[in-house]
Amino acid sequence: MIAPAALYIHVPLCRSKCAYCDFFSLPVPAGGDETYDRLVAATLDRAGVLTERFEAGPYRSVFVGGGTPTALPDAAFARLLRGLAALAPDPEEWTVEANPESLSPAKLEAMLAAGVTRLSLGVQSLDDGLLRILGRPHDAELALKAMELASSSGLELSADLMASLPEPPETRGRPRELAAEAERLAELGAVHLSIYDLVLEGGTPLAASLASGRLSPRPEELDCEEREAAEAALAARGFRRYEISNYALPGSECLHNLAYWRMDSYLGAGPGAVSTIRTEGGCSLRIEEWREPGRYGREAAELAREERVPRLESAFEALMMAFRTRFGLDLDGFARRFGCELAELLPETLASWEGRLGPGWGGGRSLALDEVGLDLQNRFLADCLGELERTGFPGRSRADIAP
Ligand code: SF4
Repeated sequence: MIAPAALYIHVPLCRSKCAYCDFFSLPVPAGGDETYDRLVAATLDRAGVLTERFEAGPYRSVFVGGGTPTALPDAAFARLLRGLAALAPDPEEWTVEANPESLSPAKLEAMLAAGVTRLSLGVQSLDDGLLRILGRPHDAELALKAMELASSSGLELSADLMASLPEPPETRGRPRELAAEAERLAELGAVHLSIYDLVLEGGTPLAASLASGRLSPRPEELDCEEREAAEAALAARGFRRYEISNYALPGSECLHNLAYWRMDSYLGAGPGAVSTIRTEGGCSLRIEEWREPGRYGREAAELAREERVPRLESAFEALMMAFRTRFGLDLDGFARRFGCELAELLPETLASWEGRLGPGWGGGRSLALDEVGLDLQNRFLADCLGELERTGFPGRSRADIAP
């Protein structure tokens, strides 16, 4: 078993539901402080139980995400952070996610007192029309004020933007100032930016608006141009694209997410969180936490769903994660964990993608897709999967493929 050094805490509460969201999140419950106190106590308790069971730590990274962690009332938020500081003292990186409408001086004070190092702010856009379409509870002015507030706290600052956003048919094709938005956030102190394409999820209000013709999809060519302009603007400021959707000044990459992409073990506590524990034999153990906050307490261990992920599936997952980043796959680590060299496992795929593959940024013996290859990652992975399904691990029967 590879001991986890990354801890994720899920706070599944949001002030309101965004129009595109199908993540697990619940509206901030009405009710007194007790509701929140119970949730915080149960989450800390569960994090402690998981830490002990898997002999986790010392933690190198902690990530408090959601939902919207800052949607917790001040006292419960501070209690959660104090509890985490005791469980995971002095991590190299400790991130808290926040949304502009719920970031306040009191929240920042609690973060600084507990030892949080990094704040990730969900800005999504600086265009009020687009923010309304997304159903976000903030406008551009509030987002900029939150950036200024966060920046003055001294925390390392990351911000999220969204691209490929739909628009009303009557203004279809109107320019979106994605590059100017990214630059503005960098000017305000962001050293890390995520630019995600909107993924349209069925059953959301946004999907319904597109289906009814009330909104139109963004023309693809415009979207590409705007993303390229944003990338160029960020590159001029020293940002590097280190993952499909993530840009950072060198040294400001998100350590916690790199732990996922490197396929390290991690623990997750809080309703809906997931833990994955890797083994040297190549299999993984996946634990999905119970989702109902009201029953997320002492009974959490019985309610959590545990599943063993077989070796070949874990190996494909390792490829999916590692080839998202320019750091790429650690070839020695892969061979140690899965008992065979990548070149033995995927000779055909590696040969046909040779022109787009090269050493990763992490040094050592590593392999990564180049800048162009990163945009073709899905095709590369489809080739990997096809070959894995045809051949399995060298010297093994196809039965090895089955769970
Ligand atoms: S803030 Fe995030 S988690 Fe909450 S509803 Fe919006 S997109 Fe979903």
